[in-house]
Amino acid sequence: METGLKILFIFVDGLGMGSSDSVINPLRDHCLSGLSNLLANAASLDACLGVEGLPQSATGQTALFTGMNASKLMGRHIEGFPPATLKKLIRKENIFSKLRTQGKQCTFANSYWIDDPHRIPLRRQSVTTVMALEALDKMRGKTELLSGKAVHHDITRWTMQTRGYDGELITEEEAADHLLSVAEENDFTLFEYFLTDRAGHSKNRKLAPEILKTLNQFLPQVARFAEQPNHLFILCSDHGNIEDLSTFSHTKNPVPLIACGAYSEMFLSLKTLTDVTPAILDCFAKEQAV
Ligand SMILES: [Zn+2]
Repeated sequence: METGLKILFIFVDGLGMGSSDSVINPLRDHCLSGLSNLLANAASLDACLGVEGLPQSATGQTALFTGMNASKLMGRHIEGFPPATLKKLIRKENIFSKLRTQGKQCTFANSYWIDDPHRIPLRRQSVTTVMALEALDKMRGKTELLSGKAVHHDITRWTMQTRGYDGELITEEEAADHLLSVAEENDFTLFEYFLTDRAGHSKNRKLAPEILKTLNQFLPQVARFAEQPNHLFILCSDHGNIEDLSTFSHTKNPVPLIACGAYSEMFLSLKTLTDVTPAILDCFAKEQAV
């Protein structure tokens, strides 16, 4: 049976296209061949959005997931969790809401570790949490995680042991299978990985290679999604960070945009973060027109 278009979008926080020098850029480590092969086919997107200063998460993610230039609208790049004005924009313009209006089934594949994500304090709601709370009927929690119907943000659950999780760690391959099964049940699935940004800011220089090893195992498995007909795999970031270990802050480097599978040619000419959401909407529109 012919199925409709399915999109799996991996958002990796703080991943830029950096130098070819492996001393500065941990992505150039020769052990990371899975990751390098994927990135070798990536387009580069501008993350600076025509605004002075270093690009930041709240405005960059809003730009990525709404298609609106949040940095220009706010007059500056805003870090961390979005303030009230940005939240308003996210609630109105986010990609989940736009796709739902078209009758598409969307999901956020990350698991929350508290029983009711609606109780996350406003000041600690990330861009993805704001849009999921606004647009999705259901978010994934412990039950979904433990039954393989969600993936924890760290992929293998290694950060959860300090938060009361006493289960086993899982492999990157198992986590990839869980994500793929979620993505099969939805038209649009988003998974967010932000430890890349944490590692880029960290003074502990052992963290970045560890984080990248996890992605090197996980991402090629997940990208197999695109091998099936009418399946599109996308990966993008909000700003550079981990690709330059000579600094603890973000970078102005372009970010990778990987698109493989159905309609991937529609992503070849994209230039900046705000182009991604409109291109995804165009894919579904084009599919409907066929
Ligand atoms: Zn950061």
